[in-house]
Amino acid sequence: IDQANTPYFFTQPHEARLLLHKRDRFAHKGTFGHALLLVGSYGKIGAAVLSAKACLRSGVGLLTVQVPRCGYAVLQTAVPEAMCRPDGHQNVLTGVPDHGAGEAHSPSPADYSAIGIGPGIGKASETLAMLRDIIPLVTKPMVIDADALNLLSENQDLLEKLPPNSILTPHPKEFERLTQKWDNDYQKLDILREFAKKHRVIVVLKGAYSAVATPGGEVHFNSTGNPGLSTGGTGDVLTGVLTALLAQGYDPVEAAVLGVFAHGLAGDRVAEQRGPIGMTASDVIDALRWD
Ligand code: AMP
Ligand code: MG
Repeated sequence: IDQANTPYFFTQPHEARLLLHKRDRFAHKGTFGHALLLVGSYGKIGAAVLSAKACLRSGVGLLTVQVPRCGYAVLQTAVPEAMCRPDGHQNVLTGVPDHGAGEAHSPSPADYSAIGIGPGIGKASETLAMLRDIIPLVTKPMVIDADALNLLSENQDLLEKLPPNSILTPHPKEFERLTQKWDNDYQKLDILREFAKKHRVIVVLKGAYSAVATPGGEVHFNSTGNPGLSTGGTGDVLTGVLTALLAQGYDPVEAAVLGVFAHGLAGDRVAEQRGPIGMTASDVIDALRWD
């Protein structure tokens, strides 16, 4: 089929496979980037754990996770492969590292190959201040999800300051908060394409047939996934996956298309093994495969 005249694409398995980077026999962990996740708050450290595990299961070389101090022991225990930077705050993220228990110097955003922010962070004013501080310092595309998106919705001036080609991963409600209500799916698509173009970002509008909108005006509908994924934590898993791909140097549009495909496929594998009902985000992490 000649797709030259339509901006709409439907990701096929063989296309997703072509996007996959092959591993060099002489690779080392430095080859696959160092990701930073800014995730979690009191009562939502699970989101931090899920995004961190998913990031590691998606091939990142090194991972640092910054969580509020209340999440430090949890994260170090649940995800020993990740380095943990305790935040200076007990319950919410402020971006300031806790020098007492942490490292002597505080690394800057430029020290990381990719940054993912949002799962479980809440909307505390200190966390908004962190977002305001960090966004202008980041030059590489970042992954923005969950309450980081909700904070952007309420502080739209920050949208213009996002690094170009950042990946935003709203579910429909989060996207409505970022933009406006729509009357039908056609209008929703127009709003989606317009938003991605205007802000020069990639938007993954999540749900059945997640739509990946690019700054160039294209929309890639995903072909994998099932309603078993409609449960808490699966979005946090996607953030970890996408951050890992960016850290490994994937082109941001390709990272979004491939990551969304692989995440849905993992959900399909779980549904095949144990049925679609009662799937957990942890099951999805375990079912991720990159071959
Ligand atoms: P969140 O709403 O942030 O927890 O993210 C939910 C995740 O599950 C996203 O990746 C969605 O695309 C996926 N998901 C939820 N419901 C469905 C569905 N009915 N079909 C396919 N994927 C879904
Ligand atoms: Mg979510």
